[in-house]
Amino acid sequence: MNDSTMSMGQQRVMSSTVGDLPERQQFLTLCSTLVVSSPTKKTKQTPPQKLVDVDQYVSGARAAAEKEKFRCEDCKRNFKSFKALEQHSASQKHRVSVLLQKFRKNCSEFICDKNGVVVSSEFDTDDGCVRIPVEKKVEKEIVITIKNENTDGGVDILMCRCLHKMRVFKMDGFARLQLPPGAAHSISVRVMCNGLGTYVVPLCLHLQFHGENFHIVRSLKAVCSNALVRDLVISEYSASDLYEILANL
Ligand SMILES: [Zn+2]
Repeated sequence: MNDSTMSMGQQRVMSSTVGDLPERQQFLTLCSTLVVSSPTKKTKQTPPQKLVDVDQYVSGARAAAEKEKFRCEDCKRNFKSFKALEQHSASQKHRVSVLLQKFRKNCSEFICDKNGVVVSSEFDTDDGCVRIPVEKKVEKEIVITIKNENTDGGVDILMCRCLHKMRVFKMDGFARLQLPPGAAHSISVRVMCNGLGTYVVPLCLHLQFHGENFHIVRSLKAVCSNALVRDLVISEYSASDLYEILANL
């Protein structure tokens, strides 16, 4: 490369600095000058962003609508086909989900005894709870009695189960049975807590009388305490208040 091929800028840099240096250093300086002044590489330019077509929005909305075509609104779940939705609608999972929603919306309707069926236990409270005081890591067994007080027909117990899974409460498997007029059936529930606090789960009975289906629900409420908690129970608070306070600490 000779002087004629260099740009004016390069010549100016060389004349001011290179001339006074030893030969080897002059060469290195020349190289670095050439590197510095070499044309910069062209960077890849991204093409300008295209405007989104209106049709794309339409097709997006269509895809969303398609996705929700087979949707169970009760469980807030989408299914790939009508058959899958149909199978889900017939499943116990769906029935439990629907029942839980109804129970939350209209609790009083579910907790009351009806159609001559009375559900009771040793630990019943007025608000439809079965409040079970337990010691930490000590199992307690309670009995819930279902009595048919009708005189004109038997009551079928079709289902008896907790609507949530909670390890604190354990029940034996249940098989459907019929209660003759005046008869009673007992269900035992074993309760054991591994930590202090309050544990609640709805226990649901699906019953049938003269062909009419109905439900009675009891909230099983295990309240786990120890001697320290009980010592704290003073007149200012009720025991249940304190348990709730301690449970939320
Ligand atoms: Zn569902």
